[in-house]
Amino acid sequence: MQQFVEQAKPYAKYGKVADYIPALRKADPNDLSIAIYAPDGTVVCAGDTQEKATLQSISKIIALAFVLMNRGEEEVFKKVGMEPTGDPFNSIAKLEEKQPPKPLNPMINAGALAVTHMIDGADVDERFHRLLTFVHRLAGDSAITYSKEVAQSEFETAFLNRSLCYFLKQHGIIDEDVEPLMDLYTKQCAIEMNCIDLARIGLVFAMDGFDPIQNDPIMPPHIARICKTFMVTCGMYNASGEFAIKIGIPAKSGVSGGILAAVPGRFGIGIFGPSLDEKGNSITGIKLLELLSKTYSLSIF
Ligand code: GLN
Repeated sequence: MQQFVEQAKPYAKYGKVADYIPALRKADPNDLSIAIYAPDGTVVCAGDTQEKATLQSISKIIALAFVLMNRGEEEVFKKVGMEPTGDPFNSIAKLEEKQPPKPLNPMINAGALAVTHMIDGADVDERFHRLLTFVHRLAGDSAITYSKEVAQSEFETAFLNRSLCYFLKQHGIIDEDVEPLMDLYTKQCAIEMNCIDLARIGLVFAMDGFDPIQNDPIMPPHIARICKTFMVTCGMYNASGEFAIKIGIPAKSGVSGGILAAVPGRFGIGIFGPSLDEKGNSITGIKLLELLSKTYSLSIF
């Protein structure tokens, strides 16, 4: 694993850290850590595995699983579609294509905001607490919390996400005020953990929603399957097609440089490498997964 990390690291220079959320500019582009979590509890890791990073868009797959468990498929897919887009994650372009308008999938920001809107609770605090408790269970780590600095930084600058919310509100897809939803969404994106926690969450998806470490059936298998399918079709934004061909592992990325991957029935993978390519995916993370997938024939196809 150490060798793979050394091979992938030089690619950091071809990318750059996310800068549209000011607090993310502080990340070191040369950081790279990876953990692989097996069902028997074996963890193989390399890099600075204690380094924490925020989930950003990786949180979309967790929120989706949670809302599907709470509200059921029928209600969720009334508000958000199942089709990939070839557009960037924050694009507003395709929103009007469907009549009545509906975000194409839950992995683009518009769809993710509609999903976060469906997290139940009396107020933002209770809704966030419920989601965070779910994250604790998935990762088997109740110390996980969120970065106030990153949440605040995104909240202050999320003008495009606010526009997406107003669009959704205009068309009746959300019916709450935009500011509390932005508060909840930016906290959700700022949930922070290390690559070992991330790999453990990947393991739960890999094992169809069952946590083999605690013997805990966390989510119904069909919900884990829906999530993995979205990871394949839209998990790497508009690079999902190329990623499926070159690597072939269900995965979800975030602009913090994180990638959560689930090799069905085998293991979970968590990676943090903040240098991003032009589509917003970790450039060193993708390189690492490519090396792993080729060496160990991990493609599901
Ligand atoms: N919080 C980020 C945003 O909404 C997440 C995006 C991402 O990771 N691609 O812009």
